[in-house]
Amino acid sequence: MESTAPAIPLLSLVVPCYNEEESLPLFYQDVQEKLSSLKGQMEILFIDDGSRDKTLEIIRSLAGADPMVHYMSFSRNFGKEAAMLAGLQGARGEYIAVLDADGQDPPALIPQMLEAVQGGYDCAGTRRVNRLGEPPVRSFFARRFYALMQRITDINIVDGARDFRLMNRKYLQALLDIPERNRFSKGIFPWIGFKTRWFEYENIERVAGQTKWSFWKLFLYSLEGIFAFSSKPLAIASVMGFLLFILSILFTLFIVIRRLIWGDPVDGWASTVSIILFCSGVQLLSTGIVGQYVAKIYTEVKQRPQYIIREQG
Ligand code: UDP
Ligand code: MG
Repeated sequence: MESTAPAIPLLSLVVPCYNEEESLPLFYQDVQEKLSSLKGQMEILFIDDGSRDKTLEIIRSLAGADPMVHYMSFSRNFGKEAAMLAGLQGARGEYIAVLDADGQDPPALIPQMLEAVQGGYDCAGTRRVNRLGEPPVRSFFARRFYALMQRITDINIVDGARDFRLMNRKYLQALLDIPERNRFSKGIFPWIGFKTRWFEYENIERVAGQTKWSFWKLFLYSLEGIFAFSSKPLAIASVMGFLLFILSILFTLFIVIRRLIWGDPVDGWASTVSIILFCSGVQLLSTGIVGQYVAKIYTEVKQRPQYIIREQG
């Protein structure tokens, strides 16, 4: 391409890519078409998150042909959060947008988003108004998760909000000033506040390739969000302990009184066994909850880098 790279681009596109060999050429073409008005004022920063297919080769050749394309390539797969962070740290533009490489975040929305942010908003966020093409079970649990987060955290995670965002430098700096390693961006965005303008769009299916999210991965990711933004699980564990304590006193009283009045011998091992099982279950659960927080503290304390760059261009 004949466009030259400006010293400080108006807009940086940060694009995390993991095994996106099929989507990338389509994505690049889409950006060229939809953002032709920004030509010469834009940089595209691809972050290859340790892909095992031809993603890096494709990015390299795009960067070779077009001076507005830059890239970083990780030494292994560090996950989308790390890839986004690296991109946000490396972006030089006055305005910065994050979008997926798979066509699910339409670049066609960017001019409107840019206009909103230039017009006084700090961030333009996007949310899907439907979940077409998604397995119903997944949609159901996603909705339950948003409802739960609403109740147990102080932050307001917008249902269907994507990571597709466009922000100004002030907003970006606030994001980068958060050093935490257990990054859960869906929560960090609302946590830092600022003025966000929402754009809604219908869900678009990937142009090619497979989603990297299995149900199990999503489930773990949602737990990540809960533990990163709420200490309610600890309170729940304490309350459960307290209730069981009260219950055990009442039960003991009941047994003593029954023995005094009716002279019943203590009968049945079944009830004893179920009580023991129940109590040890609650104990294990509570220890597990505490353990989750300890594990998070452990990751923070180790201070390991959140990603390692193997190649840059
Ligand atoms: N991605 C990444 N590292 C990962 C997983 C995903 O950089 O470990 C990228 C992926 O290439 C895509 C974006 O993050 O550009 C979103 O991934 P995906 O489309 O699988 O998620 P979904 O859109 O289904 O939420
Ligand atoms: Mg996707």
